[in-house]
Amino acid sequence: MSETHTSRPTRVAVVGAGPAGVYASDILAKAQKKRDLRFSIDLFDRYPAPFGLIRYGVAPDHPRIKGIIKALHKVMDRGDVRLFGNVDIGSDLSIDDLRAHYDAVVFATGAVKDVEMDLPGVELEGSFGAADFVSWYDGHPDYPREWPLEAEQVAVIGNGNVALDVARVLSKQPEDLLATEIPDNVYQGLAASPVKDVHIFGRRGPAQVKFTPLELRELSHSEDVDIVLYEEDFDFDEASDEAIKSNNQIKTMVNTLANWLVEQEERTEEASRRLHLHFLHQPVEIIEGQDSGGQGTGKVAGIRFERMELDGSGNVRGTGEYQDYPVQAVYRAIGYFGSEIAGIPFDAKRGVVRNEAGRVLDEDGRHVPGTYATGWIKRGPVGLIGHTKGDALETMDCLISDIDRLPLAEHPEEGAILELLDSRGVEYTTWEGWLKLDEHELALGEAASESGQVQRERVKVVPRADMVRVSRAQP
Ligand code: NAP
Repeated sequence: MSETHTSRPTRVAVVGAGPAGVYASDILAKAQKKRDLRFSIDLFDRYPAPFGLIRYGVAPDHPRIKGIIKALHKVMDRGDVRLFGNVDIGSDLSIDDLRAHYDAVVFATGAVKDVEMDLPGVELEGSFGAADFVSWYDGHPDYPREWPLEAEQVAVIGNGNVALDVARVLSKQPEDLLATEIPDNVYQGLAASPVKDVHIFGRRGPAQVKFTPLELRELSHSEDVDIVLYEEDFDFDEASDEAIKSNNQIKTMVNTLANWLVEQEERTEEASRRLHLHFLHQPVEIIEGQDSGGQGTGKVAGIRFERMELDGSGNVRGTGEYQDYPVQAVYRAIGYFGSEIAGIPFDAKRGVVRNEAGRVLDEDGRHVPGTYATGWIKRGPVGLIGHTKGDALETMDCLISDIDRLPLAEHPEEGAILELLDSRGVEYTTWEGWLKLDEHELALGEAASESGQVQRERVKVVPRADMVRVSRAQP
């Protein structure tokens, strides 16, 4: 009898163990209980630890969002999805290897790079992508452990939640971050920072921000940090009035900002750090410093903006007025961008895998058999983590309805992929390995709490080699 998907479980590889990949795996694993389906699911990640963006993208002082790890942990702990960490698809395993071992491959690789910004001076020393900074403070294994925090005045470009994260971490008193899971070197770096003023610049108005209300309000919870606003930035056009009337989130945020503007007048004491929120500022150039001989230093010395005005539709136009701010560092938080996966059709303009409802499409718009995408690499880096669930449902519905058309894998046995990884000397990590690393990090946190004054939840292990060693340690 020839092999079919009904004579054996359908083998599925999910690439990316962040929320998108875990949700997709969970949906498939649960679908087999409700319908007459059988799946055997392997979840791959290039990092030795699972949970992607939650471990390496969410700010350390966001325990509520970090808490999503508990739900993901529960899914993985059931034992019906195998985890292979520290496996890079592209170098350790090729797309052809995946096709040979799985009937379907789901890409959930997210968007982890900064979108490129075409701004004169962007290459200067002291100009940083927000995603890189986030990776540093979240202890990403592939990022250098040192970060130059030498600026007293800092500009953050963008009015999204990433700009808020970066500005909050930069301006917060470091002791307030010590209770979180930040690695020791991140605490040391932040503790040595001489920062006094962090300026967030939005190119549109207060009613056009991309923040969310909770995250915006949180700015005012930092100890010894004053929020500073500018009355001339509170300009509202017809579209702004309409947005305030019809959108509760916008209304709440505009109210929050307007209250802060009033409250700052009543302030009697000055904090040691300030967090400024500017609107209607379009960046035009990062300004290079000059030495005493008039030569460029190659370093950031300021940033120039054009003053914008609202045009009635919620968009902006230039006024021809320019303003310079002396800053020694610029962080660009203008959005993330997905990375191309070799051999998988990619929309280089949007930074997503080309797809329709999660089915990956070739250049002619035909479904590449057995190939799917979910999460930010499917729809782009927008929306909160919760939206990723709905996204995974749509993609997995497609996979399930295609089940009889999936191309059959040549080596569907569960042991075949292990043999291949072993034969290539890939030091993969597993769920059991993560449990060991998790326990180890919690124990480091406990030890640090006993020797210090602050209760530390966990201390993240950072170098990749150490993560792999702890995860693969034999009892
Ligand atoms: P985002 O929400 O898309 O915000 C990007 C910001 O950059 C916008 O204000 C945009 O302005 C601005 N921008 C874009 N190009 C620009 C340019 N050339 N010059 C100046 N400004 C420019 O992106 P994000 O902040 O990276 O966030 C990505 C997603 O992750 C969002 O859905 C966010 O809510 C989510 N997230 C959530 C949290 C949380 O704590 N809940 C934390 C981090 C991220 P325009 O609006 O004018 O285009």
